[in-house]
Amino acid sequence: MHELSLCRSLIATLEREADARGLTHILGVELGIGCLCCVEPEALRFAFETVAKPACLEACALTIRRQPARARCLACGRHYEVYRWLDACPACAGEARDLAGGDELIIEQMEAR
Ligand SMILES: [Zn+2]
Repeated sequence: MHELSLCRSLIATLEREADARGLTHILGVELGIGCLCCVEPEALRFAFETVAKPACLEACALTIRRQPARARCLACGRHYEVYRWLDACPACAGEARDLAGGDELIIEQMEAR
């Protein structure tokens, strides 16, 4: 399962961050996941809750936010947000676009002590 391996690397990253900063308890993490990223937030959350975690992450709450990609319509120049691959320009329904983002997975915030 894709989300499980993603979850393991997330845990490894958080543990490394905690070690590097001398933090013993990570209380909460906020993840930003691009809407065009092939990750199921619920599957990732489930993996995070069930997988074995190091002590510093035992009480960690995971918050996941989906982030839309940004697009610029090549027909009319309108900037808009893309939540799904098939989203077309809201102004002219054009499908040709420059696309930026939407495929990232970012640790946006970490609450720890
Ligand atoms: Zn357009």
